[in-house]
Amino acid sequence: MHYQPKSDLLENRIILVTGASDGIGREAALTYARYGARVILLGRNADTLQKTEQAINQLNKQPAASLLLDLAKATPESCQQLADQVTALVPRLDGVLHNAGILGEIVPLEELDPQIWRDVMQINLDATFYLTQALLPLLLKSDAGSLVFTTSSVGRTGRAGWGAYAVSKFATEGMMQVLADEYKNRHLRVNCINPGGTRTKMRASAFPDEDANLLKTPADLMPLYLYLMGDDSRRKTGTSFDAQPGRKAGPATA
Ligand code: NDP
Repeated sequence: MHYQPKSDLLENRIILVTGASDGIGREAALTYARYGARVILLGRNADTLQKTEQAINQLNKQPAASLLLDLAKATPESCQQLADQVTALVPRLDGVLHNAGILGEIVPLEELDPQIWRDVMQINLDATFYLTQALLPLLLKSDAGSLVFTTSSVGRTGRAGWGAYAVSKFATEGMMQVLADEYKNRHLRVNCINPGGTRTKMRASAFPDEDANLLKTPADLMPLYLYLMGDDSRRKTGTSFDAQPGRKAGPATA
């Protein structure tokens, strides 16, 4: 995406990012802070989350805050407690990036361990729903809230072997569409981002033989991540965006 944001695009914005300890979420959190946002980091690992927090605090912009939540164990109640913690820190949320996710196993559905199915659905879908419900009141306090979910190309066209992950991403697209319609006359926009193949740990586990140098890095994707959190996307809702438009799904080729 060719988008050149103003350097103060996210000044006075408060944005919560899930899965902020690593990969795309870490980069998004750092980028939002660079453009002036106060960022709330969510993750399950205190050490890695703190590393993101320290990197943000070294920018000498708005300091970040970290909150721990293991999405594998999240319930509506624990997500409400999390929202209460957020409320104690900030008056509202202007953006939420649901980025955390797991891959599960790449095997045919016939062979997929039902426990893996449940784990993927719990983290990628159920916890995302509980968290969204709990955070909506804070988002609706913003004059222009932006709720962003993370999808995948296999959440639009099914592909053999991608099992629970693909199904969870189809459901994520559905949740985005339902919410976008429910809030179409309010000051909350709801969209999805499909990052496309990106150089992270998750990608390496899905395609262990792939040459990672052929992949975009999380930093390369940030124009779209910024666009959807800033004022330039105010009227966009109900859309599933590609961070790498035109990229063919599947392993990278030279
Ligand atoms: P990574 O595996 O690098 O990072 C995933 C993040 O999610 C980490 O911060 C991880 O935390 C967090 N997370 C995983 N499980 C839990 C949990 N139980 N509780 C809380 N946090 C958890 O993945 P990517 O950065 O590659 O992926 C980010 C998003 O982009 C995902 O939704 C993925 O499906 C999507 N995506 C990625 C693509 C790619 O090519 N990379 C392509 C298409 C979509 P921890 O560090 O503790 O493990």
